[in-house]
Amino acid sequence: MIRRESEIESILSKFQNDPSRLMDILWACHEGAGYVSKSDLTQLSAGMGVSVAHIQEVLSFYHFFRQVPSGRRTIYLDNSIIAQHAGMSEIKKAFETELGIKVGGVTEDGQIGLFETSCIGMSDQSPAALIDFLPVTQLTVQRVREICKELKSGLPVQSHVSNYLRSVGLFINWSKSLPQTDSRAVSLSASEILNEIKASGLRGCGGAGFSTGKKWEICKSYESPKKYVICNADEGEPGTFKDRVLLDELPDQLLEGMAIAGKCIGSSEGIIYLRAEYRYLLKSLQVAIQKFRSPIHQMNFRIQLGAGAYVCGEESALLESLEGKRGEPRIKPPFPVEKGYHGYPTIVNNVETFVLAAEVMRKSVDEFRSHGTLKSPGVRLLSVSGDVGLPGIYEVPWGISVADVLLLVQAQDPALIQIGGPSGVCISLDEIDRRISFEDLPTGGSLMVFSQSRDKFEILLNFMNFFVAESCGNCTPCRAGNVILRDLLLKFKLGYAQKEDIDKLKQWSNLVSKTSRCGLGATSPNVLTSSLKAFPDLYQSGINQRERHHYFDLSKATAAYDSTIQALRAESAKP
Ligand code: SF4
Repeated sequence: MIRRESEIESILSKFQNDPSRLMDILWACHEGAGYVSKSDLTQLSAGMGVSVAHIQEVLSFYHFFRQVPSGRRTIYLDNSIIAQHAGMSEIKKAFETELGIKVGGVTEDGQIGLFETSCIGMSDQSPAALIDFLPVTQLTVQRVREICKELKSGLPVQSHVSNYLRSVGLFINWSKSLPQTDSRAVSLSASEILNEIKASGLRGCGGAGFSTGKKWEICKSYESPKKYVICNADEGEPGTFKDRVLLDELPDQLLEGMAIAGKCIGSSEGIIYLRAEYRYLLKSLQVAIQKFRSPIHQMNFRIQLGAGAYVCGEESALLESLEGKRGEPRIKPPFPVEKGYHGYPTIVNNVETFVLAAEVMRKSVDEFRSHGTLKSPGVRLLSVSGDVGLPGIYEVPWGISVADVLLLVQAQDPALIQIGGPSGVCISLDEIDRRISFEDLPTGGSLMVFSQSRDKFEILLNFMNFFVAESCGNCTPCRAGNVILRDLLLKFKLGYAQKEDIDKLKQWSNLVSKTSRCGLGATSPNVLTSSLKAFPDLYQSGINQRERHHYFDLSKATAAYDSTIQALRAESAKP
């Protein structure tokens, strides 16, 4: 499709031809056509005064941006392990049959594109897909047939998302639209707010757990004409969806938390970086922003839509993306609190952290600290999925044992429990007395339960494939190391591993985690090192099988290994 030049002109003028708004500009170019054409690129380049190569390198970085016709209507199937266990392969087959194309293809008339993507944040209602960027959950083969009919007839597809609030209210008030006049932040000074947040011991809820008070304090200490408060709503860790629920249920408390942070550090600029998978929440958030008037502190808010890149959950990668670039993590220091968005002091906290900060200022430090442990005070939200009777959101005190969580969620014959998503750790039933806390088992909010019937290697391979696909490729240990780790793991799954491969796994894990630039590479081997400890027999079984193959059918085993490696590599190389 050749786009009229005037369309691109009006897109450029809407964003003042500003290359730092490239993400928005590219999204706008996708409207209607579904991709950015070569002629669009030339015009964009001239309009913004940047090279075609620069725009192309940004375009190619994000899963949801396209440079070739990819269907006016798109289907993205969630390929997380939770979705696979919930029957995604049947759903995928049904879509392929109904549309007459394979995943990665576009229908002959160019109308419908079928693709796969990483976890879309719907693990409590899998299998799910994004259709025209609207989530459609709990898919069945029958529903797929209906959807395909609707798509072919040009009809809109009905989206459906549930917020399963299973056990909440321990500390967070889940009532909508609470009066902000109840917040102590209205009358407290910036320094008093800071003292309260520091005294609460609130730690960032995104995974790293850095002290929120400390972060705000450092940012506050810098003199600057501008500062920024950024909400990281890019929760891309597979199995995590609690920020999605907060964005939907408590947008006012989020904005309130950001206003409190703004008052504290001296900023009136707030930006919410929303992952593209949650684009369905964009309108309701915009409405919440329009209505938001704060007696605490006036802020200008805007929302930046991501475009599908897990690594943008890392704060410096998020800032790069926000500035219209590839989401590649920066070398630190300097940290964002000193030089963040466009070089100004910036705090980046996630959705849950801002909501909890708002709650601390409504209630009290003592009430917050009455929950949790010394080093992990307060509560946190868990997104629970997998083989459980009650998947959904749980507000729990830090320090709760895994055993108690398993009871609460009605775990079904659990064997492997993954705490903190693929970048977290997995434990066996022998370790369920361990506690979810920074002292023992930290988590960014995901808890996945896998029953005895599940193939553990399949789970681990799904996680490693995720890291291979999501590595930004900037540093070699992560770009190449994760492929090597994944291939080593595959040898065990196929029973083709040698005894020395255990040491190789450990050595490569150590190298990747110690020498990678950002958290992705630093944590991607966690699942291997923890599963080696939790399930030594599993790995042994991969070695013993090799001997059988060696004596009886070595060529068959080698062929299976080679073809699976090639298939996985082809999968990872997909745009
Ligand atoms: Fe990119 Fe991985 Fe290096 Fe992070 S560790 S900068 S994701 S290549």
